[in-house]
Amino acid sequence: MAELLTFVLGDVFGVVTLAVGIAIGFWLGRLWSKYIQPQPEAKPEEKSAVYREQLAGMIQFTSHFTGDLSKHIELLENLEQKLAEPGSEDPELVDDGPSAKAVELIAQITAANQKLKQRLESAEATLKTQSKELVDTLSEARTDALTQLLNRRAFDEERERRWALWQRKKQPFSLLILDIDHFKKVNDTYGHDAGDLVLREVAARLSSVMRKTDYLARIGGEELAILIPESDWHAVSTVAKKILNVIRSLPVQYGEKAIDVTISCGVMPVIHADGIEPLTKGADEALYAAKAAGRNCGFLNDGESLIPLENHTVAPAKQDETPANNQTAGPEDKSEPTARTQVSELDSAANELKNRLFQISQSILP
Ligand code: GH3
Ligand code: MG
Ligand code: MG
Repeated sequence: MAELLTFVLGDVFGVVTLAVGIAIGFWLGRLWSKYIQPQPEAKPEEKSAVYREQLAGMIQFTSHFTGDLSKHIELLENLEQKLAEPGSEDPELVDDGPSAKAVELIAQITAANQKLKQRLESAEATLKTQSKELVDTLSEARTDALTQLLNRRAFDEERERRWALWQRKKQPFSLLILDIDHFKKVNDTYGHDAGDLVLREVAARLSSVMRKTDYLARIGGEELAILIPESDWHAVSTVAKKILNVIRSLPVQYGEKAIDVTISCGVMPVIHADGIEPLTKGADEALYAAKAAGRNCGFLNDGESLIPLENHTVAPAKQDETPANNQTAGPEDKSEPTARTQVSELDSAANELKNRLFQISQSILP
């Protein structure tokens, strides 16, 4: 009986050791091939997702493995306890040499396994830390340090991803490019720190009006961009108005000084673009139109015309004409302006006036 037990336990030990060896080999193999050496065929934009997936897989694996091992140790401990009980019904198991050896063997297996379990648990903890560090590193590489928004690199990847979705699944989106108006003047007047503060405040305010499915990033000095999952006029103009208003509605407080800030916005819905570059160029053209129209406003590029976003009654401006000249042109101008339009126009005029007065005061003051 005891010999048989010793034989069986010897087998168990062999199988367990083999399984542990295979598992560790498999685990290290995964670490090496998928974590340490990222697969060459993975596209750069897919790498971070692949890294995260691999790490999650490694942690899950280790976790399962230690769990299985715990069960195994428990089983062996029970067996060991039973065999060592003085009142065991089978005298052979207590008294004779082979059964004492069997007990000793089980104790050794248990001790060895416990050590292994501890090592695996510490490996699991290390993996978790490393995984967090990797995720932090990856997100640092995609985050703008000043504003904590996503940076240009992250934005370019997301733009390509959404373009691919548009191509494959016809999921529409629009690209909005925003630029702070007369930002150089903010730096020149209040100093670079004030400029930085304005950038952070603009980023925070824009973030506060974004939806989860929108993608906001800082793509240049005082240039930001947003991807929204809509392309129809109503949705796009609503977003544009919201972002223009959230910036213009309240000055940025810099110590005792209140700095008036406005942004201009250019929009291109993907439905009017036949490529990713034309999409960006189209949004840039619309932004240029907004600057040319006096700033603090937005224009939409529908592929043929540049249309002011806050004023539906104004006819689309042809791209080869200056937007400012087109504010009064077009058949729709004949219709009665709505109260909203009048308020919006007055608002723009007041802002422009304020800007001009500010500029004049700057040139008069010593
Ligand atoms: P416009 O209305 O035509 O856009 O005029 P602008 O003055 O905003 O544009 P311009 O391109 O002439 O100036 C942009 C300024 O933004 C110049 C640069 O010093 C400043 N800038 C860029 N990045 C930062 C930054 O991180 N912090 C600060 N404080 N200023 C920055
Ligand atoms: Mg700029
Ligand atoms: Mg600017």
